[in-house]
Amino acid sequence: MIMSEKSKQHVDSCRFCWMCHHICPIGNATGQERNTARARALGISLVNREAIDLSEIMDNIFECCTCGACVHDCVTGWDPVMFTKETRLQAALEGKLPDYIMTLVSNCLETGNAYGKTETCEKLTEAIKAHSNKKDTLLLLGVDAKFMACEQALKATMVLDKTGVDFTVLENEPASGVQLDFLIGAANETKQQMADLAKTLNEFKTVVVYDPNDAKAIKQLYKEYGIEVSASIVTYTSFVAGLIREGKLEAKNSGKSVVFQDPYQLSRDLEETEEAREIIMSYAVLGEMLLNRKETVWAGNILMAQYMPEIIKKVAKRRIFNATSVGAKTIVTASVSEYVSLKAVAEETEILSLEDLILGE
Ligand code: SF4
Ligand code: SF4
Repeated sequence: MIMSEKSKQHVDSCRFCWMCHHICPIGNATGQERNTARARALGISLVNREAIDLSEIMDNIFECCTCGACVHDCVTGWDPVMFTKETRLQAALEGKLPDYIMTLVSNCLETGNAYGKTETCEKLTEAIKAHSNKKDTLLLLGVDAKFMACEQALKATMVLDKTGVDFTVLENEPASGVQLDFLIGAANETKQQMADLAKTLNEFKTVVVYDPNDAKAIKQLYKEYGIEVSASIVTYTSFVAGLIREGKLEAKNSGKSVVFQDPYQLSRDLEETEEAREIIMSYAVLGEMLLNRKETVWAGNILMAQYMPEIIKKVAKRRIFNATSVGAKTIVTASVSEYVSLKAVAEETEILSLEDLILGE
């Protein structure tokens, strides 16, 4: 299989140490050795040595959520996310993607989102229309919020409305390319989507990115892929925390006890951990789960639930167990995808987004 020398080195070196074995959210949910970084490396190594065909490991390659917990914990500095994404790219180039992934890829290419959606809910459509005039600041909602959690997307606009900030929301928001990047890695199609969005972003002074997954892509991957962004890119959490600091958003602490689910894209990739906590502490009393900040455990997402729903439910349930183990009754999320994932399985535990907390719902 064609693979960069760096990835090959990481594949061949990662194997036996087990130091990242216990932190994989998928491996812990399935209890299967095949889901660990080291087992995935072994599979890729067998393909590289032509002992098995690439198609034989494809399901396993798509069982990784690329959360980077193993990268963070790897004592020897190997990067399983890098070789997993390169293997996805190679599978796409060799026409060996499984059908269930091809469907998602085709949807991304045809509609800009993996779900093949073209319309959002009525209330959000109205809110977007009300913010269609061009201002200096753009609020980028992202495809998960816009098409799969439109109530949350609407609340994201309502929070900013409360502050009196003038902002635009695009009626036809281009895709960030982050879903394609997950599915087929750094393919030309991925980079094209990213370049198209960058062109639009560069028409604004400031872009507030609602989805941490998009924020990670625009702030990190675009640079890696040579896509220039001249607009100032700000995460939604840091923007809102700033508004609270400036007194533009009046906060009243309800005294409710909550814990925060750090999205790995903010905490591990962008090293942003305190802004969401600042927001929460203005409205509630913050406790901490075990494994927080950079050690966070991914709680599932909407994209992977399209092709492995039962495992994603288990992933979310395990994270809820982490919260209830410390006596928490309410989890606050900053990632719309984790919000949906947790909400889908929460029975006694309350799941709130930061917007829910701010708007008092
Ligand atoms: S990136 Fe996350 S899901 Fe993938 S192997 Fe590492 S810890 Fe597991
Ligand atoms: S990724 Fe690192 S910590 Fe995990 S098994 Fe490989 S070498 Fe060990």
